Amino acid sequence: MNFDFTQHEQKLFKEINDIMLEMAGEKYLEEKDPVNAGKTVREALIRLANSSYLKLGIVKDEEIPGLCVMMGAMEIVSSFSQSLYLSIEMSTRLFGRIISTFGNEEQKKKWLSPVLCGKKLGAVALSEKTMNIDNDQMETTGVRESALIKISGAKNYVINGPVADFTAVAGIMENKPALFIFEKGSIGLIPGEHLVTMGYDGLFISGLTLDECRINESDVIGPFEDKSAFDTLRMWENQIIIGGSLGMMKASFESAKIFAKTHKTGGKPIIAYQEVAFKLAEMLTLFQTSQLFAYRAAWAADAKSRESDILTYCAKVFCTEAAETVSGSALRILSGEGYISGNAAERAYRCAKYGQIAGTSTEIARVKIGNAALGA
Ligand SMILES: Cc1cc2nc3c(=O)[nH]c(=O)nc-3n(C[C@H](O)[C@H](O)[C@H](O)COP(=O)(O)OP(=O)(O)OC[C@H]3O[C@@H](n4cnc5c(N)ncnc54)[C@H](O)[C@@H]3O)c2cc1C
Repeated sequence: MNFDFTQHEQKLFKEINDIMLEMAGEKYLEEKDPVNAGKTVREALIRLANSSYLKLGIVKDEEIPGLCVMMGAMEIVSSFSQSLYLSIEMSTRLFGRIISTFGNEEQKKKWLSPVLCGKKLGAVALSEKTMNIDNDQMETTGVRESALIKISGAKNYVINGPVADFTAVAGIMENKPALFIFEKGSIGLIPGEHLVTMGYDGLFISGLTLDECRINESDVIGPFEDKSAFDTLRMWENQIIIGGSLGMMKASFESAKIFAKTHKTGGKPIIAYQEVAFKLAEMLTLFQTSQLFAYRAAWAADAKSRESDILTYCAKVFCTEAAETVSGSALRILSGEGYISGNAAERAYRCAKYGQIAGTSTEIARVKIGNAALGA
């Protein structure tokens, strides 16, 4: 088994890293002001569109590498800024992937092309109030009204919600799952207030109300025969969260390593204390294991292996829990400096919790893994 990336793939990683390095040199990427955060993500999208980053996992062509490379590239972007990363991913790897997989040619031209050029920002509103779609039927519904479809409902949390140019809203139409695509400013589409969250300081999140919004039938994707399309979205979300967890570990480990080599107590760098070095060793082991797991799950998804879903659940549980442990250990090494807001470990520690809640939650993933292990 060859674990090396090709020269072409490594060149892409370098391009992406350089773009992010340049952006990080120019501005703070975890801008708390939501308006400025919105501007930063648009700038990042335009710059990243100069590489193949936005197309990974979406455009199928010989020039675009597969999902293992997508995972490696995600790790790079998320290691620079968790907020920027999640905003970009919800636009491309979720909204864009929905359109590229389920949309028709007309819909691709209208919504996918501008998202992949980095000119427009997408959002996906799947989850609803006090429910995880794995449990209950959605309450958001689309009803035919002459030539139009009338949509009513509410969504609790939507990343990019108030700033997105396009939003894919999941709901039910004719008793079947469907996706309704809205453009910014549609009448009756009402984003809520910016929600302040534990982590992801520079991310624009809000609820969304759909108050008898009307769209054309050509703006509906589906209805689908069953909910497997929504299960697929959850898998893509899980991949995004796995990539984000790798970036959190990379950033936390690097900052703790530099600190341990340079910060001195008792006349020597703290890395000389075995307990500190052991912590770094455990962090690196968890990070490397997570990387292997993430790539294995991505490879299985690319190969359309029967094991793909279970491996993705396993990788998501492992990587999101490892991200909390690794960033927590980094915080301990950075100590007082780590606890002061604004460093990579502290940010990652706060963001890591989200990975365990979002997509397929850790609890639900464990149930699914258990069922698979029992052959259920
Ligand atoms: C900051 C933030 C941003 C978000 N952004 C988006 C977005 O852009 N788009 C979007 O669609 N969604 C988004 N979400 C929603 C998110 O992806 C989760 O789906 C959602 O938070 C889960 O629903 P809930 O919080 O109501 O938890 P619940 O589903 O009510 O779960 C509560 C608890 O019960 C456990 N549980 C529930 N059901 C089961 C079961 N069957 N088996 C075992 N345990 C179970 C869960 O694991 C959890 O511990 C966001 C959430 C947050 C917090």
